[in-house]
Formats: sequence, C-alpha cells, structure tokens
Amino acid sequence: MCECVATSQEHAPPKCIFPEQKDTDGVDYRKNLIKVPSCDMHNTEKSTEDEYLMYILPTSIATNNVGINQFLTKVQRAIKRNPGIAFNLSQGAQKVIVHDTEKNSWFEALAIRMDMERVRKVIEMNARAIFFKLHKEKFLGPIKVYTNFSLKLDSTEQNNFQEKIFNMSELLLRSYQLQGENQDVFAYRIARNGDIELIEFTFYGISKALAVLQHD
Ligand SMILES: [Zn+2]
Repeated sequence: MCECVATSQEHAPPKCIFPEQKDTDGVDYRKNLIKVPSCDMHNTEKSTEDEYLMYILPTSIATNNVGINQFLTKVQRAIKRNPGIAFNLSQGAQKVIVHDTEKNSWFEALAIRMDMERVRKVIEMNARAIFFKLHKEKFLGPIKVYTNFSLKLDSTEQNNFQEKIFNMSELLLRSYQLQGENQDVFAYRIARNGDIELIEFTFYGISKALAVLQHD
C-alpha cells in the first residue's frame, strides 16, 4: 500500500480475530494464516486498526458460534484488562428490538455505534493485503468498502441501498468458491469484471465486508 521498504510481516486479516487454541477446546483456527510484507509505519497503523475489528466483529449479532465463543473469551479478557473499551463501545448505545425474519422471532438487543471510518479503513488495508497475496503486485487505486453488519437506525433507504450492493455483488461472486483455511472465522471470494474487482470478506460465517477496487 506504499512505496516504503518492507521490514516485517503482517497478518491479513489480523491474527487476533482467529481464536487461540486455549479458548476452543483445542480446535486450531490459526491454520495457514495469510501474511504479507509490510513497512514499519503501516504495520503499526494496521495493528491499531485491526484491534477495533477484534472487538466489533464478535460483538455483532451477525456471528456464528465461533464468534460468540470469541466474544465470551478473548473479548471479555481484553475488556477486563481495559474496562474503558467497553465504555467506549457502549457510548451512544441504544436498546432495540430485532426481528429475525428467518425464524420470525423478536428479541431485545443493544445497537452499538460503530466507527464506520475506522471499519472502512481496516477493511481497505486488509483488501490491499489480500490483493497483493493473490496477484503479487500492489493495488494503489481507490477502494470503496461496504459492510452488511452495520445498519442505520434512522434510514431504511441507506439500509436498502446496502442490501442492493450485496445482492448485486453476489451475482458476480456466486460462481467463485470461498477461499481460506479457517472458514468459520474468515473466508473470502474474489471476482473481476472489467475495471471493477470485488473482494468479499466473510467473518464468523455471517458478517460480510465488500471491498470494491477500481482499476484504471
Ligand atoms: Zn507502508
């Protein structure tokens, strides 16, 4: 993502979202994690942003049992060490009623305010890393990021637009296989159509982020 000399290796996506074996009854979710070369500055910057993902993803209701377990173990330990994190996450939180349209059930949940700029930045950095891993070259062009685990409480229009983007991208991605060694934690698909390249991240089986790369 820059022209500096690479001095270290960085995980993409971050190692911290993959459960430690002590938390999984011995199941290894850290098989063949993806690493890319990184300069010192971006390594430090990415690590800081990656940490935000570690809190946000397992906290979401859009997660499988691996994500729930990660929330109950690693995330809880981190909060115990630094209670300010829980305070920051709960700032501006609102009680909401969620309608599960598949099971047609209703339940109470807490809507947490997500720092979208931060999430976009971290997905963008990870998308550049995955691109480099696959194509052995840097992508320095613009990237747009969408997430399906964020909702606007006051704009159905925005939520519908977001759903439309994911439905449209599915048309292009559906003929490509999910990749990744630890798919209960992270899997990805990649497809290109003309100047547009899509990298879709799936975290904990349900939460998706879409990176749209605009080639020249
Ligand atoms: Zn750099």
